[in-house]
Amino acid sequence: MKRLTSRMQKAGGFPDLTIRAHHLLCMRGFQGYGYSEEFTENLARIINEIMADPSVSIMIVDSADDICMACPFLDGLRCLRDEEKIRSMDRRVLELLNLESGCMVAFHDIEGALLALINSGRVMEICGGCSWMDVCLIHR
Ligand code: SF4
Repeated sequence: MKRLTSRMQKAGGFPDLTIRAHHLLCMRGFQGYGYSEEFTENLARIINEIMADPSVSIMIVDSADDICMACPFLDGLRCLRDEEKIRSMDRRVLELLNLESGCMVAFHDIEGALLALINSGRVMEICGGCSWMDVCLIHR
């Protein structure tokens, strides 16, 4: 399968992965469902990469990411589902995690804050309108 992540020059300061902020939640809730086979394979591979090495460096963004790269709804760098709504979800997650778009983190450094957000009532501010909630592990 074609490699879809942004790992290019780790030694030169590139992140291992670029992840849009609300996908940090989606990755926690993922149990194999998605927009297409290519999409779910790519998402599963990215999750496995992070789980295998939680020190992986991630650039957190409010725009298309390495997960979107295999999505049938990505048109260039724009999400055809609802670009503005999805960006606002990213921005809300960034705000709640006290991060800025474009920041670089090691996954293990944000995992605690991410779990706290998931276990708080505030997660519904982000997930409230999501069509995948019925099959999301976060909402079990
Ligand atoms: S392109 Fe849109 S629908 Fe597809 S993964 Fe990215 S944000 Fe989600």
